[in-house]
Amino acid sequence: MSNLMETDVAVIGGGPAGMMAAIKAAEGGAKVVLLEKNNRCGKKILVTGKGRCNITNTKPWSEFATHIHPIDRFIKPAFFNFSNIDAIKFFDSIGLPTTVEQGDRVFPKSMKAIDVANILQEQLIKVGVNLLLNSEVSDITMVGDKVKVTYLSLSGLVNAETLIADNVIIATGGLSYPVTGSTGDGYKFAESLHHSIIPQFPSLTALMPVNYNRDLEDIELKNVGLTLLVNKDLIQMEQGDLSFTNNGIEGSLGYRVSRKAVKSMINGQKVELVIDLKPALSLEKLKARIDRELAAMGISGDNLGSHKMKDLLRKFMPAEMIVPFISCNPDIKISNLSEKMKDWRFKISSYTGYERAVVTAGGISTTDIVAKTMRSRINPHILFAGEVMDVDCDTGGYNIQVALSTGALAGTSASSNRAE
Ligand SMILES: Cc1cc2nc3c(=O)[nH]c(=O)nc-3n(C[C@H](O)[C@H](O)[C@H](O)COP(=O)(O)OP(=O)(O)OC[C@H]3O[C@@H](n4cnc5c(N)ncnc54)[C@H](O)[C@@H]3O)c2cc1C
Repeated sequence: MSNLMETDVAVIGGGPAGMMAAIKAAEGGAKVVLLEKNNRCGKKILVTGKGRCNITNTKPWSEFATHIHPIDRFIKPAFFNFSNIDAIKFFDSIGLPTTVEQGDRVFPKSMKAIDVANILQEQLIKVGVNLLLNSEVSDITMVGDKVKVTYLSLSGLVNAETLIADNVIIATGGLSYPVTGSTGDGYKFAESLHHSIIPQFPSLTALMPVNYNRDLEDIELKNVGLTLLVNKDLIQMEQGDLSFTNNGIEGSLGYRVSRKAVKSMINGQKVELVIDLKPALSLEKLKARIDRELAAMGISGDNLGSHKMKDLLRKFMPAEMIVPFISCNPDIKISNLSEKMKDWRFKISSYTGYERAVVTAGGISTTDIVAKTMRSRINPHILFAGEVMDVDCDTGGYNIQVALSTGALAGTSASSNRAE
C-alpha cells in the first residue's frame, strides 16, 4: 500500500541533531515531519555519559574549538547561532535544569540521560512536529524541485511509504553503537545525491596492547601522562585519567589519543603508547623521592627482593597495579625504577570497532556544506546536521553540543527556505 504525504521539511533521524532541527524548523513556522527508524527518539542519548548524558561543555569557543575535529571553523557559525549557553537555557526553558561538573561538563540535574531524550521528544510534539516512529528511510531522490523520501513503516505490517518535501535534513548519525540505530544510512543517501564522503573510522575507542596483561583489567589511573608515538615519532602528549578494560587502554586519556592512533594504524603505521605514572615529577625528582623512600625503609643496594620491591612500589601506585606492573617490566630494579615509571611502553596491535566506539570520524564532506546554513552546496533542498558530517569531537559534552548547534541551524535554515 502506498500513501503520499507532503511537507515543508522532512528530518531523517531522531537523535539530538534531528530532534533539535525539527524543533527549530517547526518554531520557524514550517510544517515538519521527523522520521525515526526506532520506536522512540534519542536511543543513543540513553547510553551517553554512562547513563547521565553529558549534554554540553561551558568552555568558551576558543577552548571548545580545540576539541572539534578535523576542522573547527566549519562549526563556528552553528555554535554562535546556538551556543553551549543557549543549550543550557533551552533545556532549562523546557523543564530540564542542568548542573556543571568537573571539566566544565554539563549534565541534567536529575543525572538521568533518559530525561534528556524524553524531554526533547516531548518538545517535538509540543511544537507540532509530525513524528513518524518505526519509519526507516530507504531512499531520497529528487522529483523536479521537490525531494521524495521513501521509507518503510515498520510497525505492524511493513509498508513502503513515500513523502514529498521541499527540504530534507539528513541527521542519521554515524556508525558507532549501531544497536542504537546509527548504521551509516546517511552516507548512502548523500552519495546518491552526489556528495563526497570522507572515509570513516572509529574514534574515542579502546586501544589494545600487544600481549595485553589481563591483570591490568579494571585498574583506573588518575592524573597520569600519556604519549602517542607513531613510527617512533612523538605525535601527542596528554595528561588525565586512564582506564585499563577488557578492550585495552581507554578512559578519557586513552580516548583523547585514539583518533590519531586509529588513523595511523589504518595507514599501516606502528603505534606505541607511553604511560608516565608521575607526570608532575621530573626524572631527577622521582629518583630523589625513591631514594628518600629507600632510606626510610633502611634499604641500600640495587637488587631488592620481590617482597621489598612491592613494598616500595606501594608508595607510588595503586596496590592492584603492582603485580601487573612488575610482570610488564621483568627487568625492574632500583637503578631503572624511575625510568620504568615515567616511560611504561605499550605496543598497540588493534582497536575496538564501531560496536563500542563513542563516535565516528569521517562522513559527509563539510566542503559540500555551507557552514552558515548547513545547506548542501550541491543540492539546495538538502541539509545536514550532527555526526553524519565529517565532524567529531573529544569527550566532554562536545559531540552533543555540535549535534544540537548544527541541528538548530539546519532547522532554522530549512524553515526559512533560503536556497544558497
Ligand atoms: C556510549 C556513548 C556515550 C556517549 N556519551 C556522550 C556524552 O556524554 N556527551 C556527548 O556530547 N556525546 C556523547 N556521545 C556521542 C553522541 O551521543 C553522538 O555524537 C550524538 O548522539 C550524535 O547525534 P546525532 O543526532 O548526529 O546522531 P545519533 O544520535 O546517532 O542519531 C541518529 C538517529 O538517526 C536514526 N536513523 C539512522 N538511519 C535512519 C534511517 N534510515 N531512517 C530513519 N532514522 C534513521 C537513528 O536511529 C538515530 O536515532 C556518546 C556516544 C556513545 C556511543
